[in-house]
Amino acid sequence: MSEPPRLDIDALRTRLEELRDEIRELLRGTAEDARPVDLDQPIGRVSRADAMQQQSMLAANRATAQRRQQQVEAALRRIAEGEYGECAACGEDIDPRRLLAQPEAPLCVACQGLRER
Ligand SMILES: [Zn+2]
Repeated sequence: MSEPPRLDIDALRTRLEELRDEIRELLRGTAEDARPVDLDQPIGRVSRADAMQQQSMLAANRATAQRRQQQVEAALRRIAEGEYGECAACGEDIDPRRLLAQPEAPLCVACQGLRER
């Protein structure tokens, strides 16, 4: 079995900070469109349904981005507190390869699997 890679915390922190900025930009960019559909707008029934569907897709995307942003913020806090890399559920070390692929991952593979079941 090959050695797991050592985590370069500084590099991960940089990536997390970039990720945080990207998500912030994304949320800022979509904030305007995420306002509720104005039902008094004189648009046809069909386009209103379209607009509402687009709206709910956008809201779902924003919710995903917001959740990810929370994970990124939490990961940055764990780095600051020297707890980065520990699973938030069981406390075991998260596989470094997982963290390299997804630096904001709060859970180890096993706990993530349990949660998604
Ligand atoms: Zn775990």
